[in-house]
Amino acid sequence: MDNIIPLFGSKQASENVIIDKLNKEPVSPDCAYRLVKDQLIDEGNARQNMATFCQTYMEPEATKLMAETFEKNAIDKSEYPSTAEVEQACVNIIADLWNAPDKEKMIGTSTVGSSEACMLGGMAMKFKWRDEAVKRGVDLTKQRPNLVISSGYQVCWEKFCVYWDIDLRTVPMDEEHMSLDAEKVMDYVDEYTIGIVGILGITYTGKYDDIQALDKKVEAFNKETGRELGIHVDAASGGMFAPFVTPELEWDFRLKNVVSINTSGHKYGLVYPGIGWIIWKDRKDLPEKMVFNVSYLGGEMPTMAINFSRSASQIIGQYYNFYRFGFDGYKEIHKRTRKVAMKVSEAIEQTDLFDIYNNGDNIPIICYKLKEDADVNWNLYDLADRLQMRGWQVPAYPLPEDLDNIIIQRFVCRGDFAMNSANALIKDIHAAIKELNAANVSMHANEGKHTQGFTH
Ligand SMILES: *Cc1c(COP(=O)(O)O)cnc(C)c1O
Repeated sequence: MDNIIPLFGSKQASENVIIDKLNKEPVSPDCAYRLVKDQLIDEGNARQNMATFCQTYMEPEATKLMAETFEKNAIDKSEYPSTAEVEQACVNIIADLWNAPDKEKMIGTSTVGSSEACMLGGMAMKFKWRDEAVKRGVDLTKQRPNLVISSGYQVCWEKFCVYWDIDLRTVPMDEEHMSLDAEKVMDYVDEYTIGIVGILGITYTGKYDDIQALDKKVEAFNKETGRELGIHVDAASGGMFAPFVTPELEWDFRLKNVVSINTSGHKYGLVYPGIGWIIWKDRKDLPEKMVFNVSYLGGEMPTMAINFSRSASQIIGQYYNFYRFGFDGYKEIHKRTRKVAMKVSEAIEQTDLFDIYNNGDNIPIICYKLKEDADVNWNLYDLADRLQMRGWQVPAYPLPEDLDNIIIQRFVCRGDFAMNSANALIKDIHAAIKELNAANVSMHANEGKHTQGFTH
């Protein structure tokens, strides 16, 4: 583009920016920047997106550091040995936060997110189960292996089971607990069970599974059967929260049968999306065949992630946060987020219209339903619409199987959601309820249950 022509007088500004086929001619960088950026203008504001668990703010120094390291390929350990060292330092820090008993024996890696990490945890359990089953003389052709998890699982576990031809055995949640039923879980276990997944922060509701109770059940089962059934903890959201806020809660490697844990660095690890972690307490739980070697400083280094090339910038962003915040920094941020979440939850409860399932005191996630006897002519989808008019993105959706007659709403409070934003949200909730009460049309009165908004 000729620099004399104003950008909005240009040919490009008079055409659609979304193209299905490459234009023949290039456009200038300033024009491309402006028009592509503007194309995204109608999207919701990430800071007001109460639906996502993923980090929506990082410090400018972190952003700068990450932008300056985009070109480093995390898999090129030989070319970027210091980056490899930074990744290992993150693994060591996380293993320490999760109370891994033996530094020499634990092993772990970064991943793109918890989905890749869960895939690795699941595969390790599957291979280990198969070797043991062969030794025990189990007929592998008789039935498919299975994985036991509560019905509040995140979709990555369904993917894992589809990709690997495994039965996903779900333990139904009841309305009282909204998490894994420790009394019933062992009824779902048999010779073909590769492992049990406990969830520290059920995506739907924010509830924690009682991993300690699960560990006791598994321990009794292993004693009785001589098996080595293990627990993988999907701590995508809780794994970087609980160690700082509720360190006394035993859910991690302090429990005997917890063999592996994953987390999303981009959730309460406070890094922009694109980073997850998995750690095995003891490398004996990670089958050798899942470990591959890449060259490193003239020697070799084990890698176990599924993806090969990706930018190291997310790993470096994670390390920046660890180094910059320290234990107390994370603790203060998370405690403040929890306080804010509990304040919002209290305000919602005080309207007397909602039953609260999670008030944010474990992880700062608020989840509620409309009271059955609430005398209103609107529903949670209507409330979500009204809040969206003020920029707040809030999902409404049915709970999973067996509880799917219940429609809930969920707010995820994050590290960048300060008290001033919470107060604004509370004000907007009150105003929305007042408007809905005064209105005589419900936009969603005749709709069946469905998912509105982003819920994972
Ligand atoms: C978010 C989440 C996942 C998926 O994590 P990604 O990092 O987005 O891949 C898996 N399990 C649970 C419990 C989650 O909350």
